[in-house]
Amino acid sequence: SELATMMNVGVNEVIGTCMSIGIMVSINQRLDAETINIVAEEFGFTTEYVSAEVQNAITEEADDENDLIGRAPIVTVMGHVDHGKTSLLDFIRKTNVIAGEAGGITQHIGAYNVKLKDGRKITFLDTPGHEAFTAMRARGAQVTDIAIIIVAADDSVMPTTKEAIAHAQAANVPMVFAINKIDKPGANPDKIREDLANMNLLVEEWGGKYQCQEISAKKGIGVDALLEKVLLEAEMLDLKANPNRKATGSIIESSLDKGRGYVSTVLVSNGTLKQGDVVIAGTAFGRIKAMFNERNQRIEKAGPAEPAIILGLNGAPTAGDSFHVMETEQEAREIANKRTQLQREQSLRTTKTLGLDDISHRIALGEFHELNIIVKGDTDGSIEALSDSFLKLSTEKVQVNVISKAVGQISENDVMLASASDAIIIGFQVRPSADARRLAEREGVEINTYSIIYDALDEVKSTMEGMLDKVK
Ligand code: GDP
Repeated sequence: SELATMMNVGVNEVIGTCMSIGIMVSINQRLDAETINIVAEEFGFTTEYVSAEVQNAITEEADDENDLIGRAPIVTVMGHVDHGKTSLLDFIRKTNVIAGEAGGITQHIGAYNVKLKDGRKITFLDTPGHEAFTAMRARGAQVTDIAIIIVAADDSVMPTTKEAIAHAQAANVPMVFAINKIDKPGANPDKIREDLANMNLLVEEWGGKYQCQEISAKKGIGVDALLEKVLLEAEMLDLKANPNRKATGSIIESSLDKGRGYVSTVLVSNGTLKQGDVVIAGTAFGRIKAMFNERNQRIEKAGPAEPAIILGLNGAPTAGDSFHVMETEQEAREIANKRTQLQREQSLRTTKTLGLDDISHRIALGEFHELNIIVKGDTDGSIEALSDSFLKLSTEKVQVNVISKAVGQISENDVMLASASDAIIIGFQVRPSADARRLAEREGVEINTYSIIYDALDEVKSTMEGMLDKVK
């Protein structure tokens, strides 16, 4: 029926054509691509396939420059375990109470908005760590504007710190460094600045471009100054949004509450979300029955960079799903149905599988201009050697980026980063963990492992040279 409509011919004619080639179909049966090609040709049409993702994506109109006004920055805190992410987020949550409003933020909803004394606002994503950050990015949501990278002054820059930095850099998110626990007797902030300098990250005090603040998340020392630096960074980004339009944004968290049904925390990126709006996110949709802020107070609307809990969806969308406001429930239902169908079909197929072959093909087509590589190895020496050789393969046409390199097993984090950044993973003398392997299969990420440095270089080099040849 759909095909008939597209060609503007009778359904019976399409069914008849199918029968003539020996395929018995009903009016609402789905045809495979080959059948569609044959039938379309029969009626003098050629076929072109647009991916269902593209077709089902909701495109919003661009804003007129004049309608845009400043909005609060959205900030994520990342760093090594125990370096103080949670303490910092807790301290800010407890001390920054919106002027004139009683009570602090008592509940955790995945995001909160604070207002400084002078009225400026910052929104924090209250799910510390780069795992959440990258998981969301892998789903296409770039929610964060600025990352605070926290490092404990009585420790050093740790592998997870490096990973967090790599994730922020891969996402092109500016970083502000917080050197924490300066109240501790063994604290040595200079050691941290030195560690960072060794990674080519020179902080401002040392003549570099990265803002850095010594803090104690526990005692609250330096936190105001840190927020000041975050706001300075935000000013340079010149973040704007149009509050006078239908809202769009991202899902931060979802759950099923016994009494209230599906509960989702959303973060509005543009427009204003209102009670009564029809929202679609992933395959879930519904009319917003009630909205709450992070203080558990009923609200009627949420503007740009403001989080809200919404009730009324018929399912729990995944963190990182984008949400849109539709005119009618009917419209939302149709898109949700299409997406559900698409998901079902896709779960039968493997997803994107981005491998060297595929990349070389896409470069040949002129679609790909960057090759992102994640290098994991058994020693510092080997990963440095490999990374350097890869970088040297860059040409005018194709930029090779090593977006992360570290010693250690290939982890789920590496796979998520690869998926979010369209990267391939090269392992030298290391293997993926079982979980990482499963995730890589699910996400369609290629992992190449080598145990002889010559092999790794040779194979990757020749594959890349081959694909660069095609571009010339
Ligand atoms: P996370 O794993 O990064 O979220 O780290 P936490 O915030 O849970 O902090 C880990 C431990 O370090 C906790 O016992 C905190 O009390 C402690 N801690 C965090 N910040 C500070 C600080 O500024 N000074 C001191 N002395 N301890 C801190």
